[in-house]
Amino acid sequence: MSKISENLIKINHRITEAACKVNRDPRDIQLITVTKTRNVAAIEEAIDAGATDIGENRVQEIREKFPEIGRRVRWHLIGHLQTNKVKYIVDSVDLIHSLDRYSLAEELNKKALKPVPVLVQVNVAQEESKFGLCVSETIDFVQQVAADCENIAIQGLMTIAPHVENVEETRIVFRQLRQLFEQIKSQDIAHVTMNYLSMGMSNDFEIAIEEGANMIRLGTAIFGPRN
Ligand SMILES: *Cc1c(COP(=O)(O)O)cnc(C)c1O
Repeated sequence: MSKISENLIKINHRITEAACKVNRDPRDIQLITVTKTRNVAAIEEAIDAGATDIGENRVQEIREKFPEIGRRVRWHLIGHLQTNKVKYIVDSVDLIHSLDRYSLAEELNKKALKPVPVLVQVNVAQEESKFGLCVSETIDFVQQVAADCENIAIQGLMTIAPHVENVEETRIVFRQLRQLFEQIKSQDIAHVTMNYLSMGMSNDFEIAIEEGANMIRLGTAIFGPRN
């Protein structure tokens, strides 16, 4: 068995354990296999081992790999998207996790042939180094995009937790995003669905699951360290 399949089996066990701990159904948690810096051969191996959803953070890498791998898998853009690159990916990507500003919403709205599924990226911990809206401005932003951009389908929220030594400290970040998610859901905003809560990476995914994540994005845990 390949190292990648072994890792995926272990990860699936860990997902199940984390979900069971809080009485959730593990089948409700979607694993995004983060393939940034990995070559097509490694990605093929992950697909053979059962990966169904591929996450990339750079437009250039999607442009290189998408033609070789195609639509056997779903494609997720999980990194910052420059407005001038929207045209390259808007029709290949299945879900954009990183809507982080109004100008990007406008550009996506203009370039898309059909409604683009997106998640709004929230910088819960307000880290300088990270993109995303702050918690307090997110609801207004969602309302405005929903009202103005008929070609955008907001389907949830995404965050990247701070990298901390004690991983337990990420819990509060995930909990805050979950609360915001429930708050937006309860507002029943037209054209907005709160289906996906994308949070949790290799080092913190179990805590994210305990706090309600239903999409987790793992790279290192599947493929090993990046160079
Ligand atoms: C790289 C990346 C991940 C995966 O990180 P790992 O620590 O390798 O699991 C998840 N989300 C985003 C946005 C990333 O850029």
